Amino acid sequence: MSTAQRLHALTKVSDDSFRAPSSLDPQNWPALRAEAHAMLDDMLDYIQHIRARPVWQPIPDSARAHFRAKLPDAPQELATIHDEFMRFVLPYATGNVHPGFMGWVHGGGTVEGMLAEMLAAGLNANLGGRDHMPIEVERQITQWMRELFDFPHQASGLFVTGTSMANLLAVLVARHGTLGVKVRHEGVGHGLRGYTSAAAHRCITQAFDLSGLGTDALAIVPIDGNFRMDMGALDEMIRRDRAAGLNPFMITGTAGTVDTGAIDDLDALAALAGRENLWFHVDGAFGALGMLSKKIAPRLKGIEKADSIAFDFHKWGQVPYDAGFFLVRDGEAHQDTFANPAAYLRREARGLAGGEHWPCDFGPDLSRGFRALKTWFTIKAHGRARLAHMIESRCALAKALEARILAEPRLELLSRTELNIVCFRFRAQDADALNAAIVGDLQESGIAAPSTTIIRGKLAIRVALVNHRTEMRDLEAMLKAVLEFGARRREQTLRAIP
Ligand SMILES: *Cc1c(COP(=O)(O)O)cnc(C)c1O
Repeated sequence: MSTAQRLHALTKVSDDSFRAPSSLDPQNWPALRAEAHAMLDDMLDYIQHIRARPVWQPIPDSARAHFRAKLPDAPQELATIHDEFMRFVLPYATGNVHPGFMGWVHGGGTVEGMLAEMLAAGLNANLGGRDHMPIEVERQITQWMRELFDFPHQASGLFVTGTSMANLLAVLVARHGTLGVKVRHEGVGHGLRGYTSAAAHRCITQAFDLSGLGTDALAIVPIDGNFRMDMGALDEMIRRDRAAGLNPFMITGTAGTVDTGAIDDLDALAALAGRENLWFHVDGAFGALGMLSKKIAPRLKGIEKADSIAFDFHKWGQVPYDAGFFLVRDGEAHQDTFANPAAYLRREARGLAGGEHWPCDFGPDLSRGFRALKTWFTIKAHGRARLAHMIESRCALAKALEARILAEPRLELLSRTELNIVCFRFRAQDADALNAAIVGDLQESGIAAPSTTIIRGKLAIRVALVNHRTEMRDLEAMLKAVLEFGARRREQTLRAIP
């Protein structure tokens, strides 16, 4: 025992049954414990037996009305609140835990991640800074990501809410890198110019807006026949902008576009950015974790040369929401963009205010939760090989679905399947309206939940295979329902025409 520990043992208040009148802790621990175990069992049941449920169901007005209540005055029993959760929240969730969920880009979550969320909430750690082990867990994940993306040891990493936030941070770091630290006081100069493709996520445009650069400072580069950034057009645009006296500073490539899963030619982008002295950022929201797979990694070649990468553990990484991540090659540039010398955040050489790495120096958040723990649990519980297999098998499922669509004359494939996203539609006269209706029917039936997008002007049923639980039978059920709903809807339309 150290002196400090001995001193602690001698002086600590030993009566742990004492409860201050102001305390929010339970009065009856055994009853609380029993309810807590029941809550845990309910969630394990929910996940284990998710197939027995509809993917999603519309919220009845009566259920919605429960959340229009007045601010409660008196305490309520935990069992009552738990019961309300079971009846009015759980049945009307998004549905992305269900194997039939294939819309947008949603992860399915892991049991281990859920349990880690509970442990993290119990510790109630604040990962803004100070010297405690939760910070080391986050740094461990950063180290793993440096390894995965072949980034140098000076590279920095930061958990954020999601890729939208990470993309914004990238614009800020690149802006600071170009204009110097004075930009934080003097604001942005004129003429800065960034580039991204027409298939990029809208949060890139938003990042230009929020960073004070303005959306006009982002040039949208056309896409080629495979939905990738057109390199010739990019080259030409940069040349023209320089000639016009503008100041090109940043290129954002996408590793896995949200519409079709296309991967920009990251190697060519890295070379161009190097030649032109531009910050090279990659939005790899879901696609970047393809690096876990030896089969997919070669298609992401060039990502290891990026100046920064934004991606999500909560998508293909399956970590429960939210767990976005931002990785920056030059950790010092990252820190210079955000570090803030406030007296109440003074660093000390010893004690709790020590610690060499304070995440609040790397982003706009001061108070931060322990997103790293559910990520650490998920990665350790499954390991790289199993996660890689899960990701590969999502791509294989997408290919199998594509083959089924190509073999079915009533369906039309709208984009070649690059990764894990399949865009198609039911052939019909008024196909846009009809396919939007089919997707509504599918979601309301509880059979499957794809989403929609527009591919070259055509409304598509968009299936993104992210969820680790989805199997071929889920896709078959979805296809069967598309054909049935499609035929029924077309008949109705025909009958409506006199
Ligand atoms: C999902 C997604 C985003 C946004 O990420 P969030 O975690 O939802 O903020 C950005 N880019 C791409 C390509 C995406 O798929």
